[in-house]
Amino acid sequence: MKKVAFFCIPAHGHTNPMLPVAAELVKRGNTVRFYSFNEFEEKIHATGAEFISCDAYLPELSEQEKAGLKTVSTTEMTVQDIRITLSMDGFLDEEFKTFRPDVVYTDSVCFWGKLNAWKHHVPMVVSTSTFAFNQLSSQYMKNTPGELADMILGLPRVSKELKKLEPYGYHVKGALSLIQSDNQTDSIVYTSRRFQPFADSFSDHYAFIGPSVFSKAVPNKTKERPLLYISMGTVINDRPDFYAKCIEALQDQHVDVVISCGNAIDREALGALPTNIQVYPYVNQLDILSRADAFITHCGMNSVSESLYMATPMVLYPQTSEQKAVARRVAEIGAGTVLNDDSVDGIRAAVQEVLSNSAYGKAAEACSMDFRSCTGAAGAAEFIENAPHSSNGIDVIGELNKSTVRFHFIYWAIIIAAINLIGFLFSWKYVWIIGIAAGILSNPIGRAIQKRKYISILHRIQQ
Ligand code: UDP
Repeated sequence: MKKVAFFCIPAHGHTNPMLPVAAELVKRGNTVRFYSFNEFEEKIHATGAEFISCDAYLPELSEQEKAGLKTVSTTEMTVQDIRITLSMDGFLDEEFKTFRPDVVYTDSVCFWGKLNAWKHHVPMVVSTSTFAFNQLSSQYMKNTPGELADMILGLPRVSKELKKLEPYGYHVKGALSLIQSDNQTDSIVYTSRRFQPFADSFSDHYAFIGPSVFSKAVPNKTKERPLLYISMGTVINDRPDFYAKCIEALQDQHVDVVISCGNAIDREALGALPTNIQVYPYVNQLDILSRADAFITHCGMNSVSESLYMATPMVLYPQTSEQKAVARRVAEIGAGTVLNDDSVDGIRAAVQEVLSNSAYGKAAEACSMDFRSCTGAAGAAEFIENAPHSSNGIDVIGELNKSTVRFHFIYWAIIIAAINLIGFLFSWKYVWIIGIAAGILSNPIGRAIQKRKYISILHRIQQ
């Protein structure tokens, strides 16, 4: 029997998938101590785990910082993560001394969980509530100019905060090493191998256990009128403009609609509701999805996984780069269509498309079957109990890194030789154009070569 310390940030989307894992570990006789926040106390108690409140360590936020967190600013989240780690330091030192966990199970962006596992030399398993993102799968994430600006302009602030960790015994190479999935860290991912992009690039340190859902309900779509569910998740759901457009688009349609709008919205402000539309601050999403025929979703990983688990096709309305990556994968497997035009007419057309074309429902059904064949919470519990793991296979990412370094070396050697040759033989006047063109082209060429190399490594593994 193991003592397992769970750590998570205060967010439903990150906490929810860890709950069935906690329940399973407790059921198998392990002791689980869950370091979390008061709003999750009831849910955590229900799993049989011990709840430890960390609210006292949350820093007071300025209005600007609150706004940054609300828009999921990477800089703001990183800075606050570090601040919480520092304010919890003494408390967690004491906890690690007295509780003496055998394993730490921590969310992938919960720095205080990861850093304390390293500091106290306890085996760590990382809970990944999105896809696992390495340099191949992160190609699915296209950062918006705003997100890129936030990351670049925030670098000095992040590195200043990172430096504060060193005196407390936390050794960090850089913010990326705290966030990115690598092939040496034991990780649990709440999706199937089939749904994870570039799944074969991940080592045996990864367990793809399928979505972690508490419901055993099977989809039942039989009813007189189609049911459409709409939710923008629990973080950035303050979108009265979007809900109002959905209501206008769907009010006279042959469909019943349930909207979950969160607490930030004054439901009165949406006006008198048509008889076919109901609006709630929070609903039992799994229950509704088991009956729903379509789901307009912001493409949070949990919402999408739950939708596929319940065989519900989607209208995909992603807002962040991570959600865009999830949306792209859903569209790739054919279980949804992206809402490119979010006008009243665009919403109506996308909903009609998903409701009338059975191909979307069939793709979602196939994915539901795939998800239900995964090992689930039992697989996760076993993986945690047996940590640390070893990996005997080829480190695909390690090999790709080596080939990328080789490519850049040869590529720039050729470009420099070409520049010199042209300069000596003809003129030095315009050689800078070659340099700029080579710089621009190096990325797409590098990626194409990386993809070819990836395919050849996969062939080698399969032989
Ligand atoms: N959720 C729910 N009822 C609601 C809205 C959301 O139970 O009315 C749950 C949903 O089932 C999912 C989580 O909240 O498990 C949302 O997580 P997701 O990753 O989809 O989005 P986030 O809220 O993190 O943006």
